[in-house]
Amino acid sequence: MLEEDEMLDQDCLFCKIIQKKIPAELVFEDDQTLVFKDIYPKASIHLLVIPKKHVSGVTDPHSLVEINAIWSTINKVTEKLAIKDKGFRLVINSGHDGRQEVNHLHFHILAGERLKVL
Ligand code: 5GP
Ligand code: ZN
Repeated sequence: MLEEDEMLDQDCLFCKIIQKKIPAELVFEDDQTLVFKDIYPKASIHLLVIPKKHVSGVTDPHSLVEINAIWSTINKVTEKLAIKDKGFRLVINSGHDGRQEVNHLHFHILAGERLKVL
C-alpha cells in the first residue's frame, strides 16, 4: 500500500480536494474514488468522478488501474441520484485540444435535463 504522499501531487487541485485542503461539495466517497459537484456546472447536475490516487489523465497508463473503481462508482452515484434510468452523459477532456484544465483523471457526469446533441 502506497503512503498518501506517494499517491498525491501536492500541486494538483483535485489532490487538494482529496486531502480536504480545498472544500468541495462531496456526493460520494469510498476507498478509491471521490465524487463532488463541479464548481461551474454546465448542466443541472454536473459531477466530477476522480480516483484518490493522482493519475494525470486518460492517457496516463495508470488510469487503466483505476477504471474498474471509477466505473463502479459511476453506477452507484447515478443510482443514488436516480439518474441511472433517465440517463446521463460521461465526458473526459484530454490534453490541450480537448481543453483538459485539471491534470488529474476525472469523468464529468452531466445529467438532470435533456442534454444538447453533441
Ligand atoms: P476539465 O476541463 O479539466 O475536464 O475539467 C475541470 C473541471 O473542474 C471544470 O469543469 C471546472 O469547472 C472544475 N473545477 C475547477 N476548479 C474547481 C474547484 O476548485 N472545485 C470544483 N468543485 N470544481 C472545479
Ligand atoms: Zn491530483
